[in-house]
Order: sequence, then C-alpha cells, then structure tokens
Amino acid sequence: MYIGLAEYYSAELSQKVKRGIHENRKKGLYCGGALLFGYRAVDRKIVVHEDEAKIVRLIFDQYAHGKDAKTILRELTAQGVKHRSKPFAVNTFYDMLHNPKYIGIAHLSDGVYDNIYPPIVPKPLFDEVQAILAKNKLGAKSRDTDYLLKRKCICGYCGKHIHAETGTARDGSVRHYYKCEGRKKYHICQKSVIKQDDLEQLVIQTTHNILNSQENIDTIADAVMQIHEKRMHDKSLLNILCAERDEAQRVIDNIMNAIEQGILTPTTKTRMEQAEEKLSEIKEKILIEQYNLQNQLKREQVVEFLQHTILQSPQLMIHTLIKKIVLYDDKI
Ligand SMILES: [Zn+2]
Repeated sequence: MYIGLAEYYSAELSQKVKRGIHENRKKGLYCGGALLFGYRAVDRKIVVHEDEAKIVRLIFDQYAHGKDAKTILRELTAQGVKHRSKPFAVNTFYDMLHNPKYIGIAHLSDGVYDNIYPPIVPKPLFDEVQAILAKNKLGAKSRDTDYLLKRKCICGYCGKHIHAETGTARDGSVRHYYKCEGRKKYHICQKSVIKQDDLEQLVIQTTHNILNSQENIDTIADAVMQIHEKRMHDKSLLNILCAERDEAQRVIDNIMNAIEQGILTPTTKTRMEQAEEKLSEIKEKILIEQYNLQNQLKREQVVEFLQHTILQSPQLMIHTLIKKIVLYDDKI
C-alpha cells in the first residue's frame, strides 16, 4: 500500500521529467531507452547502423517473399548473425517485423514522432509484410489480455492461479469467467468457474465496505505513516540507489580508460552505451526518491487517497490494497 501511494504522489515529478523528454523528442533527440536493432545513438541523435540495417532489410524482404520465420532465423544463425550478441529469438524477430520505427515512425508514450528514427525499410515493403502478418496468426502478437484481478486469484482447493478467460456458449454468446488453472491445464481440480463480472463486483464491493469504516481508515493510515517515518529516517532506498549509481559510474570510467589506452573491441561501444543508459535510469530514480524524501507524506493525504482517490479507479484500488484472493466455491 505504501509503495502504491508513493508511486501515486511522485507522479507530479515524473510529469516534469516527461515534459522535458517531450521537448527533446520534438527536436528529434534520442532520450534513452533500449535502441532498436539497426540503430545507434550518436550525440543524442539516432543514426542508422548500416551493417545491421542490411540484415533488417534482408529479413523484411525474405518474409515478404514468403519465406517462413523458422527458415529465415535458421539461416541467420547459420551465418553467425546475432542480435545483441545472441542468436535472433523468434519474439525479437516478430517484434521487428511489426515495428513501424523501421519506416521512421515511433509510437512513444507521449505521442507519435517521425523525426527520431531514420527509416531503414521502404514503406511499400513494410506494408506488404504487415499484410502477411495479419493473415498469419502465428505472427500476430499474442498479448495477454488484461483483466482486473490478474495475478491476484488463487484456488483454495489446489493452490493454482485462477485466470480470466473468454468462451463462447452454445447459443454463440460470448462469456467471460474466471477458471482455475489446476482444472483447465492440469485436470487435478474440480473448482467451478465463476462469472468474471460477479467475482470482480464482489471484490470491489467488499473492499468498498472495508474502506467505508472510519476505524479501518484510521488503522491503515496509522500503519502507512509508521512505515513512512521509518523510511524517511533510514533513507534505505536512496542509499541503495546511490551505491548503484557509483557502480555504474565506475563501469563507465573503466571503459573510458580502456578506450584511452587504445583497447577497443567491437563490443566496447555497445557496452559504453548500455552503461550510460543504466546510469541515466538510476539518476532518474534517485531524483524521484529525493523528491519523496523531501515531501513529507501527510496523514491527510493517506486518508484522502483511501476515501476518494482509490474509489474512482478499481485498478488502482486492486493494485494498491489487494494482495491475494483465495477462492472456494462457497467462500472467498
Ligand atoms: Zn483449483
């Protein structure tokens, strides 16, 4: 609960950080994060890495001409072609085929940009590949559907997870329900299924009822404040982050030394980029933690969060307050 709260209240700072990133992206600058195969960052600009770009074009071209993923991957591996020093994985392969950055269009968290990634693949070829992917179900992204009680439900009888799923009834209507994995996958459990909506409403309603009591609110708020005081006092997270920052800086210094002594290998540059990326991530976390430490959490904020904020978003409520739901057929 405390961590959920801290995340919620540090959103203000992360807004400021995001605004800065947005301004830089509008100027076409690279703002960190993992780089796509085929690209490198040079002076905060993304440039095409010609050797890798050739492989990207080859992959798109072969796929568009009907070669299947397995064959393409096998041939690449046989030729010793690697993706970040490992053989190409199937997932990576399909992620690449789906990625519009290769035609210069980047869908980022704060908008769509056409000025950050220089195109590697011609648009007609890219479109051709998308049409094939759409037809080929294996290539379609199998994204886990999101549902409210994801990773929270456990079967009281067999101890396995209970997942939401969608089925079609005999009359053709679509039904959503929660089903025990022990029953579905392992056939070791008799737990009956429960309608998705029924279970979710029950959990939400039960939680609302708990939050409806002033006594419960006081108990939770006191406990959160105790954790907060302790954390302000020992600064444990900040200390860990600072140690991580120093370590990341040490790695960068070592690589710099190697470069100065003329020891250069093909991986030096990649390692340097990874180290710099890591350092900037840690620095951002330190900033957020420092902000949290300066901004004393107040008891009123906790109460406000529990009595108002959380009630407006079932997701936030479940994420923050529910650790585990154990389900039986007759009790929960
Ligand atoms: Zn079960």
